[in-house]
Amino acid sequence: MDIGVLRRDGRTDPFFDGTAAGRLVIRRCEACDRWFAPDETGCPGCGGEDLVWAEASGEATLVTWTVTHSRNGAGPPAHLALVELAEGPWLHARLDGVAPESLREGLPLRAAFVHPDEGESYVLFRE
Ligand SMILES: [Zn+2]
Repeated sequence: MDIGVLRRDGRTDPFFDGTAAGRLVIRRCEACDRWFAPDETGCPGCGGEDLVWAEASGEATLVTWTVTHSRNGAGPPAHLALVELAEGPWLHARLDGVAPESLREGLPLRAAFVHPDEGESYVLFRE
């Protein structure tokens, strides 16, 4: 499935610098040692507003998923998932190379990175 060309918007530079280098970089509050999704801007725990960017392990488990079929029936269906990172935050991402019959809640996954010819690199998850 084509997800379109991703462009960075300035706020997400560290995230896309990370994906370009094959690293999953998300937000972290150093004051209370909690991790957040890349689009989080403040810490709901302590109210801190200076979240740092930090590299996550790339380990995750499957929370839920949906299967989308391409409009013209060409190509395999895509699996869009909500995964829980080992550090805690939830992330929306595509699954790649998964056997549909093996999908289950809690399935261990690992981040993988796609580097398209055009646009930013992005993360997806594999078994
Ligand atoms: Zn905090």
